[in-house]
Amino acid sequence: MPVTLEVIIGLEVHAQMSTRTKMFCGCDNDAFGKEPNTTVCPICMGHPGTLPVPNGEAVQKAIRTSLALGCTVNGDSHFDRKHYFYPDLPSGFQISQYDFPLANHGTITYDILDAGGAKVAEKTCRIHRLHMENDAGKLTHVGSRTLCDYNRAGTPLMEIVTEPDLRSADEAVAFAQELRRVLVAIQASEADMFKGMMRFDASISLREKGTEKLNPRSEIKNLNSFKSLERALLYEEKRLRNLWEEQSGPLKGNITVGWMDDEEKTRVLREKEDAQDYRYFPEPDIPPLHFEAAFIEEVKKKLPVLPRAQREKYVALGLPEAKALQLMDDPLLRSHFDAVLERTKDVKKASGIVLTQLIGFLKEQGKTLDQGPSKDAILELVDAIESGTISGNAGKDVLEKMITTGKGAKEIIAAEGMQQISDDSSLQTLVDRAIAENQKAVESYKAGKQAALGAVMAWVMKETKGQANPAKVNEMLRKLLETPDEN
Ligand SMILES: [Zn+2]
Repeated sequence: MPVTLEVIIGLEVHAQMSTRTKMFCGCDNDAFGKEPNTTVCPICMGHPGTLPVPNGEAVQKAIRTSLALGCTVNGDSHFDRKHYFYPDLPSGFQISQYDFPLANHGTITYDILDAGGAKVAEKTCRIHRLHMENDAGKLTHVGSRTLCDYNRAGTPLMEIVTEPDLRSADEAVAFAQELRRVLVAIQASEADMFKGMMRFDASISLREKGTEKLNPRSEIKNLNSFKSLERALLYEEKRLRNLWEEQSGPLKGNITVGWMDDEEKTRVLREKEDAQDYRYFPEPDIPPLHFEAAFIEEVKKKLPVLPRAQREKYVALGLPEAKALQLMDDPLLRSHFDAVLERTKDVKKASGIVLTQLIGFLKEQGKTLDQGPSKDAILELVDAIESGTISGNAGKDVLEKMITTGKGAKEIIAAEGMQQISDDSSLQTLVDRAIAENQKAVESYKAGKQAALGAVMAWVMKETKGQANPAKVNEMLRKLLETPDEN
């Protein structure tokens, strides 16, 4: 009988903290798009004799994150030097935290959705530890040469290490997405994957279902997107399953592999490696960290509503889970949605305008959300619809034109003569004509066929190119037709 294998996955996540300056010096932390080696100083270049000073903002953000993940922030922790030689690390050591990390023992609860976006399961993954460290520089290989850019050197990072609680590539991705939502919500990291602000190392191993022992694992290095995380794990799982069949068992020792994004496969980098000797020792230039319980409590009090709770609020209002998730993944989208919801007090309307129409038109026109209308511009449109100046349907056309032209709703409505016909005397004339022109439908409505009124309505809407206020027309028609014939 073939054995049933279980997949065991754990993640190490590196997230760049969104601070003004680097981890241990005053250099600009935003190196994106800057000339190479322009946001550097002797400290982040690791020159001898320089003194690193921890960035208070970064420490605060790491504590916020620890608390948001339900970790215990350790009252005492310290920085260590982790020694290794590589051209992107000019000091020859990274300042990290080894045996006394900032925080331990958290959890993240995340949802598994089906293809239709409905929630099918709720899972929890434990966080083993969270510590702070600085990033290395960036190497670019050009032909036989290697170029070094140290702008990224010294960037403040959090390393978040999970327990091996994940059981599939799907779970790993859903977990990582939820973690990203938390980091963004508490403003600890922008976690912009495109800019490399969130990166993963994933460990994967197999074991016979029902057994508890962890087998040697394959560690996949440096995954830079949810897509590569998913594909690399699926690829490596398949590879390990085949290996299990060939050698009737798990890997003989831990291995490290790299994910080749363009070839869509992993390549073994190091086999049967022993624990590397980094010669850790406490960083002598930085005093140990000590946090009073009262201080940690203060930070905890200032945490915003976390994504999970926020999402539950949206779902309770009637928004489908997948749409609530969509909002949590994009702060700008959420701010638009919240504003429209606040104005209309109607989740369906807000969802229709922001999540269906706005997103749909932007997509059609190949634009991003920040290239679309501002929150105020959207509210101008919403006001025009809510006040009855235009119908909801016309609003859709106006929104599309706002995105195409960049013009405001009022301007477009005036220029195109799209105002809804709402005044009683114009509508009365219309309704009288509608009754005269649609005698057959009117008769069957009077005979009790409710649906026949639709034909009369349709005539009015056609006649006015959709500009008649449908609610008012409907009301007037019903009133007229329900009055007993005096003749
Ligand atoms: Zn510097």
